[in-house]
Amino acid sequence: MPSTHDHTSARHDLETERNRLLVELSDLGAGPEGGLSYDSNFADTSQVTAERGEADLLAKELRETLSDVEAAVARIDLGTYGRCESCGNEIPEARLEAMPAARLCMDCASKG
Ligand SMILES: [Zn+2]
Repeated sequence: MPSTHDHTSARHDLETERNRLLVELSDLGAGPEGGLSYDSNFADTSQVTAERGEADLLAKELRETLSDVEAAVARIDLGTYGRCESCGNEIPEARLEAMPAARLCMDCASKG
């Protein structure tokens, strides 16, 4: 068996986070798969363009976070949750508690 931990609380945190991200994306008018749904006959002013750029950027960040969260849930199912994707070492419990979707251990994360 890959792990003796069942990660129940991490899974709960991740699912809560995933729901929050989905709500934020839908508030932005963006789905999880990308592409904001804009009114097709919008007024093409620089103001609109700037706001659209900010929403795009935010949606992109939310989708990246969402994909980290979903990958973490998938790793719980696979039994590989809590291992660094780069070096394979166990990610310390404290780091996982602070950042349940962490893919990398502290060392690998700081190497960037
Ligand atoms: Zn590592």
